[in-house]
Amino acid sequence: MAKTKEEKNEYTKEWRIRNRDIYLKRRRLLYQKNIDKYREKSKERSRAYYYEVHSKRRKENPEFWSQVERARAKNKKEKKNLHLKELREKLGGKCSICGYCEHVEILQFHHHGKNKYKNVSEIPNYEKRENEAKKCILLCPNCHAIETLKERNAKNQKMDLQIYIETNSLEL
Ligand SMILES: [Zn+2]
Repeated sequence: MAKTKEEKNEYTKEWRIRNRDIYLKRRRLLYQKNIDKYREKSKERSRAYYYEVHSKRRKENPEFWSQVERARAKNKKEKKNLHLKELREKLGGKCSICGYCEHVEILQFHHHGKNKYKNVSEIPNYEKRENEAKKCILLCPNCHAIETLKERNAKNQKMDLQIYIETNSLEL
C-alpha cells in the first residue's frame, strides 16, 4: 500500500528520532559537501533580512540615517585616501622624473605602458588596488601630462607608419 505524504513525513520523523546519531552524521557530511552553497545562501538570507529591517528603520527616521550614511561614506573615503597615501610612500613618495616631493597627495600613478586594468584610485578593493599600484611609477601632474603626451605622440607616429606601409603596399 502506498503511503501518503503525511505518513511518509511521520515515518521520517520517527526514523530520525530512533537513529539520531546516524541522522546527525549524515547531515553533517551533507553540510560539509555543500558548504559553499550553504554559506552563500545564508549570506543572501542575512542580506535580505538586513535590507528589510534597515529600509523600515530608514523610513521611520530618515534624517538620522542619512547623517549616518554620510558619516560612513566620509569614513570610507578617508580610509581610501590614507591607503593611497601609503601606496605613494611605498613607491618612493616623489616624482620619478623631476623628484618633486613637497605634497605627496598630488602625485599620480602612471602605468608606463604596462597592461593597465584601471586607474589606481578608482579600484575599491584594497588588495587589487595595491597590485595595480605595483605596476605603476609615481609622477607629478606636470611630468605625468608630458609623459602621456609623449606616449600618445609615439603611438600616433607608429599608427601613421602603419598606414603609410599599408597604403604603399596597396599601390604595389
Ligand atoms: Zn615631475
